[in-house]
Amino acid sequence: MSTTNIGHYIGGQVAAGTSGRSQNVTNPATGAVTGNLALANSAEVGQAVAAAQAAFPAWADTPPLRRARVMFKFLELLNEHKDELAHMITAEHGKVFTDAQGEVSRGIDIVEFATGIPQLLKGDFTDQVSTGIDNWTLRQPLGVVAGITPFNFPVMVPMWMFPVAIAAGNTFILKPSPTDPSASLFIADLLKKAGLPDGVFNVVQGDKEAVDALLEHPDVKAISFVGSTPIANYIYETGAHHGKRVQALGGAKNHLVVMPDADIDQTVDALIGAGYGSAGERCMAISVAVLVGDVADKIIPKLIERTKALQVLNGENLAAEMGPIVTDAARQRIKGYIDSGVAEGAKLLVDGREFDGAKAGAGCDNGFWLGGTLFDNVTTDMKIYKEEIFGPVLSCVRVPDFATAVQIINDHEFGNGVSCFTRDGNVAREFSRRIQVGMVGINVPIPVPMAWHGFGGWKRSLFGDMHAYGEEGVRFYTKQKSIMQRWPESIGKGAEFVMPTAK
Ligand code: NAD
Repeated sequence: MSTTNIGHYIGGQVAAGTSGRSQNVTNPATGAVTGNLALANSAEVGQAVAAAQAAFPAWADTPPLRRARVMFKFLELLNEHKDELAHMITAEHGKVFTDAQGEVSRGIDIVEFATGIPQLLKGDFTDQVSTGIDNWTLRQPLGVVAGITPFNFPVMVPMWMFPVAIAAGNTFILKPSPTDPSASLFIADLLKKAGLPDGVFNVVQGDKEAVDALLEHPDVKAISFVGSTPIANYIYETGAHHGKRVQALGGAKNHLVVMPDADIDQTVDALIGAGYGSAGERCMAISVAVLVGDVADKIIPKLIERTKALQVLNGENLAAEMGPIVTDAARQRIKGYIDSGVAEGAKLLVDGREFDGAKAGAGCDNGFWLGGTLFDNVTTDMKIYKEEIFGPVLSCVRVPDFATAVQIINDHEFGNGVSCFTRDGNVAREFSRRIQVGMVGINVPIPVPMAWHGFGGWKRSLFGDMHAYGEEGVRFYTKQKSIMQRWPESIGKGAEFVMPTAK
């Protein structure tokens, strides 16, 4: 099978790698190598920053409405090419095609939001703050900004960043995950076709070397990062050390609390979909079911049945509910967690390690397959409870009451997403108010906020102050300026030595 060379995109052109370093890109369903990805060195990152820096003044001066019109055209092209992007995601990430379509749609939502940039950038104005003096604020772009993104949403997560950044007048460098990089170049091409000037959007492929070059480059003014917590922490500290604005979204351990009054069938549907969808490789995946009181006895038999019945197939098969694991290394890591759960005394109800890839479809024998795994009697001191597994492993924790459910969630290191299934309005209200988590679902298993609300967790799921996209995204990619103005007719005679006050 032939492989494609995947390079960078700098100053409006695809650029072959020159560093001499590269890595394979693989189809996780079959294990076949499909691409050879160039890995940028700091000189190549420097070229991308120079191209973005050169494009910045003219782009920042382009009226917001004209920038928005480029976004409208981009939106049209994205809608036209949505399925091509979704197939690219399935081929390199492995997630099932319909889920990949959903990912592209959620990315498109942000582009739609970014088309409203003239309104979003509108400042405040106060007439007559003192006699003859007016004061107003406006928001201006930062300059060159960069986005460093994870493997699990190769289209949606970059779109949490660049549509807002670009619409706000910045120029952008995307450093995609090396695991599934192809969509980034396709997007660059669509942006060019939409009329985006060369240099406004650039892509550098790579690993730590490229990331460090971005973190250290003096002309990069802000970094948006999404990925695992240890790297998010590193990005936040290193970026801040180099004087940059940083938002770094990290890992997660998302709990779904099942109250005794919850609708059992709806809750089982929610746990199966949110636990095993995208093979559990979502930062908003549910990985812990917190079963309150006697609800466990009603729900566990149904969870066993449904986990065993999961349609684990090549993602291109429209009957697939779950595809492969992204890489063999990730599969081995997840298997290691399942081994550790067994060793620490959790009750293994369904064992995904036994899944045979040959059952996933023709040519899948060498793919990176695992079935859904279900544990009961997981306790909060176990490694499988404490750490993010990022795979199709659902852990059930039994607790006696609502207060304990809230307590264990609040004690957890991560605070990305959480959900509570109940029919009781007061429980729902108390849960939403007391829980120390950034994104809360009530009878909604994956409460990913809409484009205009902003996305972000609490605790060690987010480093920095501002969430991704929404109005916080606009604030992140702009700096506020306050202007106070008067004209000679209103200026009195004589120097003033006292602090100016309203007169
Ligand atoms: P990752 O942290 O391994 O990689 C993310 C990015 O960082 C990639 O671009 C990668 O090339 C780069 N990177 C990796 N190691 C680096 C290093 N040592 N120095 C500098 N850069 C480095 O994450 P991943 O495996 O691609 O993605 C999965 C993780 O992302 C999970 O932890 C998941 O929870 C998290 N995630 C979080 C959110 C969120 O919104 N909070 C969303 C999606 C994914």
